Amino acid sequence: MSGTIALIVAAGSGERAVAPGSQPGLPKQYKDLSGLPVLRHTVRAFAAELGADSIFTVIRSQDRELCRSAIAGLATPDPIIGGARRQDSVRLGLEGVARQTSPAKVLIHDAARPFVSAAVISRVIDGLKSADAVAPMLPIPDTLRRKDAGAFSIVSRDELYRTQTPQGFAFDPILEAHRRYAGESFTDDIALAERAGLRVIGVAGEEMNIKLTTPSDFELAQRLAVSALPDVRTGTGFDVHRFAQGSYVWLCGIRIPHDFGLDGHSDADAGLHALTDAILGAIGAGDIGSHFPPTDEKWRGAESSIFLDHAARLVRDLGGVIAHTDVTLVCERPRIAPHRDAMRRRVAEILAIGIERVSIKATTTEGLGFTGRREGLAAQAVATIRLPAS
Ligand code: MG
Repeated sequence: MSGTIALIVAAGSGERAVAPGSQPGLPKQYKDLSGLPVLRHTVRAFAAELGADSIFTVIRSQDRELCRSAIAGLATPDPIIGGARRQDSVRLGLEGVARQTSPAKVLIHDAARPFVSAAVISRVIDGLKSADAVAPMLPIPDTLRRKDAGAFSIVSRDELYRTQTPQGFAFDPILEAHRRYAGESFTDDIALAERAGLRVIGVAGEEMNIKLTTPSDFELAQRLAVSALPDVRTGTGFDVHRFAQGSYVWLCGIRIPHDFGLDGHSDADAGLHALTDAILGAIGAGDIGSHFPPTDEKWRGAESSIFLDHAARLVRDLGGVIAHTDVTLVCERPRIAPHRDAMRRRVAEILAIGIERVSIKATTTEGLGFTGRREGLAAQAVATIRLPAS
């Protein structure tokens, strides 16, 4: 364990950020931002600086599943359950950390600030070399006025600063302060540190480090998130499998009863094979056979979801997102339409993306060729991914 850990506070219900039609009822830290949940953006920013095993999250008990899927594949410690107020969640988070490890320093950060930069994180860590409490702060560029009996008077902004997170602390003193003042209420952890007599310093914050609170914050955030992944790539995939004796086939992750089976080394799911190749193609990462050689006995009868999950992980490892996938299944039989929704759900689940980003279509070849003669079936796929600027 490194000397510095991060505590990401994600235990709010985020009601103010709920805009009609945009994932209503979902707490803001789990909402989609350019293909990834807000919490994933935030955790990834800190993991890049401190290592995933040093990133602790504090969540609501009813959000375990949301959190699990939001940060799937990041090797973070199990989330800690928070409390009613933010202040309680931070205290319970610090207690949870203290039960597992004994870090020297902690960066406490709001999950709803997903655009925190490496530079801000570094400035707070540097600040902790000379103080026990550090906050990123920003001057106020707008002219401030106070409404007074119907008239507006100008308020000097010279001595006013906005405070952001991450707020950095020496670990033991801030835990002790949270314990001692649990009965009082504070705006943020810096205010609590001041009450406890810790020396506080400010470092430069960043305008981009916005806190997502209102629906208009989310509009701005969507634009920022999209502009952070400007490198749009497309890949294609194609696959064929021959019908063989059997009573079912696997297609796009769904088992479908049929008069025949499909011949293949793995489960012969041509839909998932074509899609896996499309994603690998989009990132220039070879093809399915180079990652999972058909000569390797390990993959005999393997579930093809393993291959697709692997391709999706490679995209995530590059800091990218899968923006859209489209699969066309070419066969006379079995009929695809009755299974289409289940296929979309399954593919979305494997890729860890929204179902609206997954398309599955079917066609026949009008009785022509090998699919027309019902000797086998084919699948083709397109995947569009977005990567950070290279
Ligand atoms: Mg295949």
